[in-house]
Amino acid sequence: MSKKLIAGNWKMNGSLAANEALVQAMLAGIGQPPAEVALCAPAPYLAQLQALLQGSPIAWGSQDVSAHEQGAYTGEISVAMLKDFGCRYAIVGHSERRQYHGETDEIVAAKAQRALSSGITPIVCVGETLAEREANETESVVKRQLAAVIHTVGHCITEIVVAYEPVWAIGTGKTATPEMAQAVHAVLRAQLAAATTNPKRVHILYGGSMNAANAASLLAQPDIDGGLIGGASLKAADFLQIVAAA
Ligand code: PGA
Repeated sequence: MSKKLIAGNWKMNGSLAANEALVQAMLAGIGQPPAEVALCAPAPYLAQLQALLQGSPIAWGSQDVSAHEQGAYTGEISVAMLKDFGCRYAIVGHSERRQYHGETDEIVAAKAQRALSSGITPIVCVGETLAEREANETESVVKRQLAAVIHTVGHCITEIVVAYEPVWAIGTGKTATPEMAQAVHAVLRAQLAAATTNPKRVHILYGGSMNAANAASLLAQPDIDGGLIGGASLKAADFLQIVAAA
């Protein structure tokens, strides 16, 4: 495994002024980070991130991408457009998109495939709801979600990043314990091992209320290769502490 990856997901937050202050504070404190670092911003701010982060140790990406190449898809953003603004990553299949925008496993897989086809690394989110966990369906849900991507992208599966984000832990302050997260990560690693001879090449991030206080214990787990950070990526000091813990 290469370095861990700490990716921020700003969600629908920020402004030109707030982003500038946040990014400058991050750049001032980041030094030579022990991990790979990325920030995923709302699309209108990707040009701003490109200007601020070019040549820095922080990469950037989007929070979604279209499954289509171009054309009559009002409101969608293509991988070529993301490439124009220097994006390295695109989050796909975040639970908020699955939940509020009807994204199915197949749509998420098509988006991952589209990103890969242009050399953008998809950060594919998987995760169970509270009801699914309570019904003992965690394993089957995350395996079904990842299987759709494996089926669609084939041997390119080594080029994706997976993010395990239990839906009940996102933005709630309820973090999965390191043991709970590790158990699911091990399931995902085994599934990758059945699809590729190099399953360790794939970063499997944990996301869901990861913060400066709990990051180190989560990141110490053998199959937790980084974090996808929502709320704590909006505060430079918290985000830098998570990076330092990696
Ligand atoms: P959170 O969000 O860190 O605010 O829980 C994580 C995510 O949804 O990516």
